[in-house]
Amino acid sequence: MSNLPKDEDGLIRHLKALPKVELHLHLEGSLRPDLLMHLASRNRLRIPFSHPDEITSIYRFKDFRGFANALLFGVACLRKPDDFHDAVDALGAQLADENIRYAEVTWTPQFYLNRGYSLYDFLDAMNTARYAWQEKTGLLLRWIPDIVRSRPRPAQQIARWASSAKARKGGVVALGLGGPEPGFPAHKFQQIFEFVRDRNLPVNPHAGETDGPDSIWDTIKTLKPKRIGHGVRAIEDSTLLEFLSREAIPLEISMTSNVRLGVFPSYEKHPVKRLIDAGCKVTLNTDDPVLFCTNLTDEYRKAITYTHLTLRDIYYANLNAIQAGYLGDDLKEKMMAEFRVSYNNNALSG
Ligand SMILES: [Zn+2]
Repeated sequence: MSNLPKDEDGLIRHLKALPKVELHLHLEGSLRPDLLMHLASRNRLRIPFSHPDEITSIYRFKDFRGFANALLFGVACLRKPDDFHDAVDALGAQLADENIRYAEVTWTPQFYLNRGYSLYDFLDAMNTARYAWQEKTGLLLRWIPDIVRSRPRPAQQIARWASSAKARKGGVVALGLGGPEPGFPAHKFQQIFEFVRDRNLPVNPHAGETDGPDSIWDTIKTLKPKRIGHGVRAIEDSTLLEFLSREAIPLEISMTSNVRLGVFPSYEKHPVKRLIDAGCKVTLNTDDPVLFCTNLTDEYRKAITYTHLTLRDIYYANLNAIQAGYLGDDLKEKMMAEFRVSYNNNALSG
């Protein structure tokens, strides 16, 4: 740690250069205002903005409702396969710029069922952009379609699609579950996730963000997840912490998301360090980088500056993410070797 730059700009430059993995990142939360203006204009959508700067005003939300509105504005701009191509192309540029080597990108197919295209059309377009970035920079991307707790009607259709051989071949690696937890418990989706598990598609739900430890227990017992999106409110239940640690169920932590949505009052009060100290397999993520005005480099900076994580903690968070990623063992080993060298060369001893 002593070798890390003390000034903020220097620290950001240093952290930005390190290789990274991100497991919890929503495509719909990564659409930049200039891209949204472009998509809206191409699709002849009537929107209440005439300049990208005006769009940023919707990112000043104070609660989950405001957040959802900002997210849905992005969803409304994604109409055609070309839009999905451009969204992934722009995301690839952002990830490559931060030296993110591997990312699992969540998107919500049920928003796009009535656009006049099949989900495979969107997936094909996303994959064209995915392969272009892989070719250009070595960046690896995989897809996690999710279903929405509060809009369960198309869930079975999405589950069938996600577990199809064609979707799997197109980079779909798990099925997620998002949306508000209160009033929409995980067990209501038990059969759907049993269906995908039976087809060997991993289950990757959000839980323990807008609801407490009971929601995480319910999710674990009824959905049998490989990982948990957020899971931060496990900090309220020591038995659950022991369980997560013993079973090594990784948590996808997104500090800025939690602070912006009021799950914790400040970065200083965020329990990421206590979760690590309790033995949880922590990974660090942005969730919705554009909506929360963050990026992965800045998440690392905040973790170091406000919660006293060390560079070694950041390194282990990346190793956890590689191990928890839905990719082959050969790629994992290659990536771990690459990260070991990079982080060792960057004063890991601290
Ligand atoms: Zn999320």
